[in-house]
Amino acid sequence: MNTPDFNRRSFVKLSLAAGAVAAAPTAFAQDKPAFALPALPYQPTDLEPHIDAKTMEIHHGKHHGAYVTNANAAIAANPALQGKTLESIVGGLPAIADEAVRTILRNNAGGHWNHAFFWDIMAPAGKGGEAGDKLTAAIKAEFGSMDEFKKLFGEAAAKRFGSGWAWLIVQDGKLKITSTPNQDNPLMKGIVPASDLGTPILGLDVWEHAYYLHYQNRRADYVTAWWNVVNWSEVAKRYLNA
Ligand code: MN
Repeated sequence: MNTPDFNRRSFVKLSLAAGAVAAAPTAFAQDKPAFALPALPYQPTDLEPHIDAKTMEIHHGKHHGAYVTNANAAIAANPALQGKTLESIVGGLPAIADEAVRTILRNNAGGHWNHAFFWDIMAPAGKGGEAGDKLTAAIKAEFGSMDEFKKLFGEAAAKRFGSGWAWLIVQDGKLKITSTPNQDNPLMKGIVPASDLGTPILGLDVWEHAYYLHYQNRRADYVTAWWNVVNWSEVAKRYLNA
């Protein structure tokens, strides 16, 4: 990755070559990648034995890393997209006229958003805190009990054919379980069905890359184990903010 110093030197050199006068720092802001791969909020080993370290390393460093790289390349090549937040790109895909660019960002800005979210709503087993009174009450009101909610969410994760995500969203003030294919998510207005739109507060990656090294074809075992590493404090925070 280019250091700011390198960018600055390159810019100054180019400016001098073109006979330009000194410019404000914002003049070379677009040399900077739009997005950066966030650090994991724990060590890759910390979710073991439920999610193994090798899976976490590859999933974060390689898969999530590639989504960030690909999204950045598409944005660097399309000046109209520069300076936009990740949320505005993910929530404003239909406004991108070029279908190829829209597809790249649907998959890769979507992938970046989904994975950054996913790391944050997990925590080492025993350190994920509690759902708290308000979220627990809302889950009971909507699904009957926490166990029933987990069963229904697990079914959504199991039924998602191929690659995708299961979600718990807040939609019109109510909790709802949904799922999306590939790297689509409930923020993608005009892309996913309106019935699946909302504010995600919990999400589970059911792509094989999320579990295959340890669980192979046993997606249901992965889902069952994953409940041990849900960061309920973070999910509750997102519920209260939704
Ligand atoms: Mn993934």
